[in-house]
Amino acid sequence: MGQTDEMRSQKDDVPIRDEDVDREFKYEVADHFGGEGLLRCLKCGACSGGCPVAAVTDYRPRKVLGNVLLGLKDLVLSSDDIWMCAACFTCEERCVQEVNFTDVITILRNMAVREGHASKGYLDMARTVLQHGRVVPMTHAVNRMRDKLGLPELQEPDMEELSQIMSSAGFDKILSIYAGRDTTE
Ligand code: SF4
Ligand code: SF4
Repeated sequence: MGQTDEMRSQKDDVPIRDEDVDREFKYEVADHFGGEGLLRCLKCGACSGGCPVAAVTDYRPRKVLGNVLLGLKDLVLSSDDIWMCAACFTCEERCVQEVNFTDVITILRNMAVREGHASKGYLDMARTVLQHGRVVPMTHAVNRMRDKLGLPELQEPDMEELSQIMSSAGFDKILSIYAGRDTTE
C-alpha cells in the first residue's frame, strides 16, 4: 500500500537527513505558553480528520505536528502549511491528548516571522496596520455604507499611540527584517 499525505511526516518523497534535524525544536516549541501539549501528541490523526481546511486542501495538522516532533525546523518554519490553519479550534475539540494545536500553530507562525518566513498575506496585513492603524484601510465608501446601515462613522485611529504600542511590543523591529523585500510568498 502506498503512502498517503496523512502518513508522511516529512516533505513528500524527500528522505530526512541528519543535518536537517534539530532535536531541540519540539522542546523549543513546547517551552512557549500553550505549546506544552505538543509533547503529548500521539499522531492519531483525529485533528486532520475533522479539519475543514484539510477537507479541501493538502494541508494536514497531523503532518505539521509530525514534522515538528521529528525536528524538521527549517522545513516547518518555511512551509506554507503553517499559514493554512483557520483557527477554528475543531482539532482542539477532537484531540484526546489536549495538544492545543491552534496555540502550537501560533507559536510556529511567530517563530517563522522572526526567522524571515512571513507569508505575503500576513505581512501585507501587518504593514497596513502600521500605516493605517487597521487591517483594512478605512474609505469614504465604507463610512457611507455604515451610515446606510445606521452604524456610527469610524474615527481615525490615534497613529501616535499605535506607533508607541507597536514599538514597545517590538512589532516594528520584527517587520524591519522584511525591509527591502516583498515576502517569501
Ligand atoms: S494533535 Fe491530538 S488529535 Fe492531532 S494527532 Fe496529535 S493527539 Fe491526535
Ligand atoms: S484550528 Fe486549524 S488545524 Fe485545527 S481544525 Fe481548525 S483549521 Fe484545522
